[in-house]
Amino acid sequence: MSFNRFRCIRSAAANGAKALQYRSSAIGRRYISGDAPKVLPDIEPSRLEVTRTNTPGELPPSSQLLFGRTFTDHMIRVSWTEAEGWSVPRIEPFGTINLNPSATVLHYAQSLFEGLKAYRQPNGTITMFRPDMNMKRMNSSAQRLALPTFDGAALTEVIKELVRLDKNWIPKEPGHSLYIRPALIGTNGLLGIQPPSEALLFVICSPVGPYYPKGFKPVPLYGTTEYIRAAPGGTGAFKLAANYAPGVVAQKSAAQAGYVQNLWLHGPEHYLTEVGTMNLFIVLKGSDGVVELVTPPLDGMILPGVTRDSVLALARNHVAGTKRLDGLPEQIKISERPITMAEVISASKSGQLVELFGTGTAAVVCPVDKIGYLGSDVHIPTGPDGMGPISKPLWKELVGIQTGVVESEWNVVV
Ligand SMILES: *Cc1c(COP(=O)(O)O)cnc(C)c1O
Repeated sequence: MSFNRFRCIRSAAANGAKALQYRSSAIGRRYISGDAPKVLPDIEPSRLEVTRTNTPGELPPSSQLLFGRTFTDHMIRVSWTEAEGWSVPRIEPFGTINLNPSATVLHYAQSLFEGLKAYRQPNGTITMFRPDMNMKRMNSSAQRLALPTFDGAALTEVIKELVRLDKNWIPKEPGHSLYIRPALIGTNGLLGIQPPSEALLFVICSPVGPYYPKGFKPVPLYGTTEYIRAAPGGTGAFKLAANYAPGVVAQKSAAQAGYVQNLWLHGPEHYLTEVGTMNLFIVLKGSDGVVELVTPPLDGMILPGVTRDSVLALARNHVAGTKRLDGLPEQIKISERPITMAEVISASKSGQLVELFGTGTAAVVCPVDKIGYLGSDVHIPTGPDGMGPISKPLWKELVGIQTGVVESEWNVVV
């Protein structure tokens, strides 16, 4: 196998102006005691090394794209050690990772991930949606696991380079995108439970088709009372691998009972928290006729979703008059507050429940039509095409932004 390795000159030139900014960042630096503190290297996009594949693959036809099955030609690898800091970032052919069988990620789940998308715009440019939010969250997850933090803007630059290199893998059909999956794992091979002294950050990409190829399909949820996802003081607010493995049995029993996803509840009051791996919104009509858009607060048990944040921002801009959205009522009360199953059931019975939906990068908005709860089904209204009256205009604006129909500073050009 011959290597076609070269320094990424373009990246170095393009990032010359930003180099100072990276260098001035304190995130990810480790200081070793002594006379003068030793500043260890952070991720340096100007030092990127690219090794291209000699056996490029081919993007399968849209009809054969299944989420997370197909991966692009290349991936990012950046390793870290406590003594040396972050290594030179590398883009290499997509391939396996060698790990010592005693690596802590395999035993103690020292592992976290992110998920974001790149979209091909009608004019041919490629954009990523709010990558700064994902980088911020990835660093907060790293901190929670005592894994190394890093300069998020710097990793974003390296990801841009990867997306540019693999841009032919972004399907051209409308509604398609490139799913970007960064991950960070502890790799040291010492069986003691302690902060990792070695870690590996990697990024892989997978082309994806539209979430709703045949129109919106509301999903039935199973209100899980046998298991919990998160608890106060736990890790629910972080995208840690350890949060997902225990959720699989809950998802499996929801599916066995005939539901599509599970609804995570908290405490004896059965507070609604999240839908499977999505955030949750509930729309109620108050006795004064005013619509209330409710989502559980970021109390440490809720994953701070980028889509959740975006939906709230769009709704708040609409109410403030900064950017009105067609189809939404002029007045909406926006609440980040706890909400119980008792309140949802009572609103469903009195006709005050307007809709309920999940939000996340994959589906953007996912309408719900019923909740199986303690042996019976709670009915939830859905609109004529499956999407409710409040989620529809919000979804339309958000997807419009992501696909370049609506201009927004949330789009970052790759
Ligand atoms: C990733 C995730 C979400 C959605 O976050 P987005 O940034 O909107 O994709 C919500 N809940 C859980 C548990 C998640 O893992």
